[in-house]
Amino acid sequence: MLKSHLGVNEDNELTIGGVSTVELADRFGTPVYVTDENKIRENYHRFYEAFDKKWDDFAIWYAYKANSNLAVCKVLQDEGCGAEVGSLCELKIALKVGTPGEQIIFNGNNKSEKELELCIKNKVLINVDNLQELEIINRIAEEIGENARVGFRVNPDVEAPTHPHISTGLRKSKFGLDVPSGKAIKAYKKASKMDNITVEGIHSHIGSQILDPEPFMEQARKTLELRKKIRKEIGIELKIVDLGGGLGIPYRPGEKELPPEEFASKIVSTVEESLKDQELSKPKLVFEPGRFIIADTTLLLGRVGYVKERKNIPHWVSIDAGMNALIRPALYDSYHHIEVANKMNEEKTESTNVAGPLCESGDYLGKDRKLPPVERGDLLAIYDVGAYGLSMASQYVGNTRPCMVMVKSGKADTVRERETCEDLTRLDKFPDWLK
Ligand SMILES: *Cc1c(COP(=O)(O)O)cnc(C)c1O
Repeated sequence: MLKSHLGVNEDNELTIGGVSTVELADRFGTPVYVTDENKIRENYHRFYEAFDKKWDDFAIWYAYKANSNLAVCKVLQDEGCGAEVGSLCELKIALKVGTPGEQIIFNGNNKSEKELELCIKNKVLINVDNLQELEIINRIAEEIGENARVGFRVNPDVEAPTHPHISTGLRKSKFGLDVPSGKAIKAYKKASKMDNITVEGIHSHIGSQILDPEPFMEQARKTLELRKKIRKEIGIELKIVDLGGGLGIPYRPGEKELPPEEFASKIVSTVEESLKDQELSKPKLVFEPGRFIIADTTLLLGRVGYVKERKNIPHWVSIDAGMNALIRPALYDSYHHIEVANKMNEEKTESTNVAGPLCESGDYLGKDRKLPPVERGDLLAIYDVGAYGLSMASQYVGNTRPCMVMVKSGKADTVRERETCEDLTRLDKFPDWLK
């Protein structure tokens, strides 16, 4: 039942990477994010090998917004993984850990000139969102005296069965160029005539946490259809076909995964099918998984402060990690599995709600969970928080963001310090008249 990096020791304590979570909490304090390095590598290898068996030319560019901790990015860079970035700082992190510019793609619907400039200087592939942006890129490239490598984000109008906030491929979405109306074709036509632009790719991304292969297949089909149309009408053959990220993971016990092997085989057969009647060369396929690579590598550990027992309705247990540390339950109503990390073998008899310490009713981590009787001082482990956990953490209600620890085969070390109260006000200033 437990994943390869998790275990239970003889004291009934949950372990990660061969280290007791109780020891980790004592040594590093709580709340703390704990990430297993070997599990990151294992997930990456699994995704990589799924495609390696089926397609010659492909690349994996990890989506930094899932978790852009330097150590995480370094581990992936070390594996040869590229980067999908969406801001100036993410781009700088990718370059800092040694990712070659050619293995970075920059996404976003509102890129600044500063961001575009750094992309062009480092030969980063710019995923253009709209025509206005294309004009700006052409001008900056001319000023710098280098060609800009671009692709376009197209909107294939595919419905993704996921939370509306993380569904991005519908026509009404704010992202990309609309395909059915012909806007996407027009953009390629225009770009192909520009002096300082090299058109290299086509990109689509339909959403996140998707466990059904069908929408991915529809996306691949539609994206390749457009590639063919571009060749026919404009005469350019796009080398890079980037199908984005979005492969989900099972968060609930018993939930079925979409194995990357099945994902790869269905995508590749769809691509092969589409290429059959096309006199086009095989493209380089690019994928941008975020969640799949990093989500299940990480636990969030929080210490129980108080327990409120109630008759006939779930008890409330409050811990020192709340929506400031992990906003997904409050924001997307997401499920994260929870265990009492120091009572792993005790019987789960109590219906329990788990709350954070903030003054908001939405500040909870789980509702109506079966847990063993919980007492002050117990340690709760929240599962699968590696993606969109610390990267979405805030300082709301004056909480410092948690620290992060990496474990590997029995070793543990800090990869991000816990913030201090001084950090919270470090950038604040008094105006002249209040000094
Ligand atoms: C968020 C995002 C991803 C990663 O999505 P996951 O669901 O974490 O795999 C990839 N590409 C783009 C363009 C994104 O916005």
